[in-house]
Amino acid sequence: PLAILGSANMDLVAYVPRAPRMGETVTGRTFRTIPGGKGANQAIAAARAGGDVTMIGAVGDDLFGSEIRATLTEAGVGTTALRTVPGATGTAHIVVDDNGGNTIVVVPGANDTVTFLAEGDEARIAAAGALLLQLELPMEGVLAGARAARSHGVRTVLTPAPTQPMPTELLQLTDLLVPNEHEARALTGTEDPYEAARLLLDQVPEVVVTLGAKGSLYAARGAEPVTMPAFPVRAVDTTAAGDTFVGALAVACGQGRSMADAMAWASAASALSVQCAGASSSMPTRTRIDAFHKE
Ligand code: ADP
Repeated sequence: PLAILGSANMDLVAYVPRAPRMGETVTGRTFRTIPGGKGANQAIAAARAGGDVTMIGAVGDDLFGSEIRATLTEAGVGTTALRTVPGATGTAHIVVDDNGGNTIVVVPGANDTVTFLAEGDEARIAAAGALLLQLELPMEGVLAGARAARSHGVRTVLTPAPTQPMPTELLQLTDLLVPNEHEARALTGTEDPYEAARLLLDQVPEVVVTLGAKGSLYAARGAEPVTMPAFPVRAVDTTAAGDTFVGALAVACGQGRSMADAMAWASAASALSVQCAGASSSMPTRTRIDAFHKE
């Protein structure tokens, strides 16, 4: 099984001809609510890819909270460790203009209450093959999860997003770091992703850098790097490509596949997801990933 400790948000997306300036009102074309947040996205991606997944996190006692819980359940994610706390669920207020550009306001809401592990969470982590972490929860909560995983010998997979300074301890508790190329640059100050990966190996034993349409690369201490091209597809929405990749990668690694195999399979999963609109709603099932991967 896989455990995910992370954020759950409702994305509130308004599609507009152009974004309003401060003090201005514009009329939008359409509006959608889409369950999101990096934690929930990775959980849904992993469950749809065939993983046995438990999500640890929090939603508020509002309608968005129940909607997110229902979406996770429908995707096959275990939600007994998803707390419902008084107050608002996390929201991301997204304005997308006709050029595809966007502005986003994130209000963490319930996610900000995840500063500790609740009863039973440590046992869930201990029972998992890996713990997936991102940086959309309070750092104390992320650290608590990483410490629990390490103390039970459970592999930790950290997506260092959104970009922010991290305590050294968190990197010391990380087994596999999965930055995208922007995050890799922010962490190392280096443009070249190979060089960035090499530098990151001073801090963590294994790194996968995702490079968007350019694919991904894997580096580990004392091993030859692996590069994996992306599948050539027509991308219409790359939101959560990285979360889909990580979710599928963790499922494949949990089945004992080699890193090269797991990366190829995760590339197939994310290539499928970028071909349709929406984040969680576009994540492919294991059957679809297998079929596309074999083509
Ligand atoms: P993030 O969403 O975190 O920025 P990336 O953009 O690096 O992550 O994408 C993660 C993975 O998704 C890539 O390594 C690649 O395999 C796949 N991917 C992303 N964009 C495309 C694309 N345009 N075409 C095909 N695959 C893509």
